[in-house]
Amino acid sequence: MGFAIRVHKFREGDIVPVDASVVREVLEPYAPYDVPDGESVEWVRAADGSEAEVYLDHGVTFDRPGPGVLYPIAEVARRTRAAVLLLGDPAAAIVTSEEDRAHLPEDLRGTAVVAPSSVLTGATIQQVIRPLPEPRPRPALPPFPYHPDPVATGSVIAAAETCVCCGHDQGWICTGPVYGADVPDGRVCPYCVAFGTAAERYGAFFNEVEARRIPDDAARRIRERTPNFATWQDWDWPAHCGDGGVFLGAVGAGELRSHPQALDHLRRQCAEWGWGTERTEGFVGALDKDGGPTGYLFRCRVCDTPFAHADFT
Ligand SMILES: [Zn+2]
Ligand SMILES: [Zn+2]
Repeated sequence: MGFAIRVHKFREGDIVPVDASVVREVLEPYAPYDVPDGESVEWVRAADGSEAEVYLDHGVTFDRPGPGVLYPIAEVARRTRAAVLLLGDPAAAIVTSEEDRAHLPEDLRGTAVVAPSSVLTGATIQQVIRPLPEPRPRPALPPFPYHPDPVATGSVIAAAETCVCCGHDQGWICTGPVYGADVPDGRVCPYCVAFGTAAERYGAFFNEVEARRIPDDAARRIRERTPNFATWQDWDWPAHCGDGGVFLGAVGAGELRSHPQALDHLRRQCAEWGWGTERTEGFVGALDKDGGPTGYLFRCRVCDTPFAHADFT
């Protein structure tokens, strides 16, 4: 178990320092000793009792982290927008956005996994660095700029199932419905979605888009080449700053509270519907990730602001 996990920030392929004060702020509650003023945390113990030695230089190195330590590691990466690296063979990297992937050194860029901040936890790191034994290796998923982690959202699942479009078992299948008059019964693989094969072959589409709020090429990408996700009601893919939002996952009232901007965005929508404060607060307070009405978290591709949409029943 001689492995270490590093949290490093990159700009154009080079390491840039992470904010040491933020690192200390995140790790201090996990330090099982009094950290002297002005010094960095050198040892952490997680809730499950697992520990790691910590070294801070330009980045943070966690030496032989136990499973519980993966959670503070994820927190450091989220707060500093740095990458999580396991420099073994094969090397693994997790970044929180496509922009950050582009800043990675070239050898990590191709294999890096993008896990948005809202889903980057210790469990995510565990999956990426120490994958559970699988009966077969699965190919990397194609990029979906408007729905970057369809496995986390449940829209794509690992399955031995033949795609109705390409006729291959690709190891992954999309769970959502395929719309269109000439679409055969069955499910499609994420490659036939991403590369537009299903759209071209059957006129298939996956999402409704209100075209006048989103430029044509983006609208087409969302409509024809982006996996859909389960909602209780039908609504158009939401837009922000003239582009389609990046879907991060379903949220309930509890999760929304940690995204105050998204919560306010939802409150403003309620106000536009003419709802008073009491009705609005009752509605947003009752949102449930697993039972309708549900909230849906998005991030703007242009201004990076988180925002939310909900099933309005
Ligand atoms: Zn296919
Ligand atoms: Zn925006």
